[in-house]
Amino acid sequence: MSRTVRTTCPYCAVQCNFDLHLEAGQAVRITPTRECPVAGGTVCKKGLSALSDLRHPDRLTTPLLRRDGKLREVSWETALSAFAAQVGPLLDTDPTQLGVFGSGALTNEKTYLLGKLARVGFGTPNIDYNGRFCMSSAATAMNRSFGLDRGLGFPLADVAKADLIVLFGANIAETLPPVMQFLKAAKDRGATIVNIDPRSTPGLSQLHLNLYPGTDHLLAGLLLKLMGEWGRLRPSAPAEGQREVLDSVAHLTPEQVAAACGLDVDDVLKLAQLYAQAHHPLILSGRGPEQQTNGTDTVSALINLAFLSGHFGKPGGGYGTLTGQGNGQGGREHGQKNDQLPGYRHLNSPADRAHMAAFWGVPESALPGVGKSAQDLLLSCGDDIRALVVIGTNPAISAPGAPLIRERLAALDFLVVIDVLPSETALMADLVLPGSMWAEEEGTTTNLEGRVQRRRRAMTVPGLAREDWRILCDLAHAVGRGEKFRYADFPSLQQEFFAATAGGKADYSGLSAERLDSGTFQWPISHAQHPGTPHPYFAPYATASGRAQLHPVRMSVPERPALTLTTGRVAGQYQSGTQSRRNPALKGTPDVQMHPETARQYGISQGQAVHLAGPHGETVLPAQLTPKIRPGVAFIAFHWPGSANELTSAHALDPHSYMPAFKSGAVRASVQPVL
Ligand code: SF4
Repeated sequence: MSRTVRTTCPYCAVQCNFDLHLEAGQAVRITPTRECPVAGGTVCKKGLSALSDLRHPDRLTTPLLRRDGKLREVSWETALSAFAAQVGPLLDTDPTQLGVFGSGALTNEKTYLLGKLARVGFGTPNIDYNGRFCMSSAATAMNRSFGLDRGLGFPLADVAKADLIVLFGANIAETLPPVMQFLKAAKDRGATIVNIDPRSTPGLSQLHLNLYPGTDHLLAGLLLKLMGEWGRLRPSAPAEGQREVLDSVAHLTPEQVAAACGLDVDDVLKLAQLYAQAHHPLILSGRGPEQQTNGTDTVSALINLAFLSGHFGKPGGGYGTLTGQGNGQGGREHGQKNDQLPGYRHLNSPADRAHMAAFWGVPESALPGVGKSAQDLLLSCGDDIRALVVIGTNPAISAPGAPLIRERLAALDFLVVIDVLPSETALMADLVLPGSMWAEEEGTTTNLEGRVQRRRRAMTVPGLAREDWRILCDLAHAVGRGEKFRYADFPSLQQEFFAATAGGKADYSGLSAERLDSGTFQWPISHAQHPGTPHPYFAPYATASGRAQLHPVRMSVPERPALTLTTGRVAGQYQSGTQSRRNPALKGTPDVQMHPETARQYGISQGQAVHLAGPHGETVLPAQLTPKIRPGVAFIAFHWPGSANELTSAHALDPHSYMPAFKSGAVRASVQPVL
């Protein structure tokens, strides 16, 4: 029998809709749909080839338990007994010794359930997720200025209304391809597009400023100062901190900033003139300026510029951040962050704690406080974290300082991984529990514009695999803490989740599966007739005073190592590659990209094996010489074992967001000797 199920692509935060065609219960084809409310029928090659993972020969279909050093197939009963035997005593003595590490790939319902499981079920504060490595700097900066973090505070269609689009470290063409149509529409209407990035990435830009990594705040600070000098300041709304912000940039000069950023002063002034002349300038940031030790402050500098020059919140203007992971937006709203409760509530807020404790029927004192953030959690493994549950992510490859992280994971007493394919982290585990893939589960996800969409189940899980939400409930029951985890079916869980968000900043309580069958809605959606909120950033803001809180930024000039490593993604792969490396339709092999001038300095030629060394490890990669990267910078994508995170620092974190410095660190390079 043939069937078609409309669902959403699991891979990135655009969340393109497509039709999944099934024959005799098996998925056979994906076709885009023009009815997609996000991308209007465009999908990228990752989405089109997503079927490859569903029944891949490596698919995990049976629980695996390590015995005599090897992972061996066992029944669920044995697997859950092993979990109870190892984790139960920890929970009885000191539950803080259990860590939970989640993922921006999880649906909103699983995010909610994971946070509830950690805090209400296990009683540990130590839960965080891999979105800490992705979105946290922009989220922290938006929260501290406006009390709200929704990546794009406008629908993607607004991008087409901008007359100037300034991309700070955002490689849209390779990482979010369907978004290019909105830039193209803006350009067709006469907009100018500027790309600010140490690499010349594909796109439509008319001006490229290949600044030195980690100097974006200086450029933003100078633009703000010049807007003041040129009479272009008109705050978007009442704000606090305006004087301090302006004072913090008063000393900057175009010449100084151009020198610190490694740019031509004429290009810097050209950008300033474009910004001053534009009526609807839009700044979009990606991970380039965010994955830095000054990532939060840099986003604040971008916000200050957009806000004080009067463009914040304006259709087609202002500032937005481009969320990356499949459910990177929803994944940071409902409780898997170390400091957060569902509906974007905060664990440090007495009112939020009391509300959620009452909702869950537990004493407020039973809710733990703020726990370790992601990298701290991983680095604590084997010390005060004795057991770790990981779901849907692969920190053995994707965490910075991966060799050290693997050491810490190996030092655990018990590592549990819930996943669908044998990731490098799963292969280190003591217990592997086979979960569900995107086409095998119901739920909701929230895209980069805060649009909540329905994910529909098209097929059942293979073999003995179980839907993730059931596994999470099974773990609670295995340790005798299942009282709050008795759901008759998935709709019961989903209804509880929607209700849990009521009154929160990210309020989904007006949603139901039925409502989501006929549309998508941007949050907050606070009642069943609520149409959704395309533009959530308006005064009074969700701050204590209702005014925007602007933060002055220290205009420090970062150290410039002889060779700076910057990392990122390539079009044909996704995240740590657990799925995309197994997909024959997706291509790419690891290499180190450097400018021919830099290569000459190190005696390196095209294709030659380069030995690279970082603070925690080393690797050897072939050289890919390209004039599209600025001299003195080396780029390595992080999708493969032995790639970027062998070289990144495990300890260099932004002090506000705890975001690691993936985008700039020192690396040593030399020609690999041949024996
Ligand atoms: Fe999937 Fe993102 Fe590609 Fe769309 S752009 S098909 S959501 S990976």
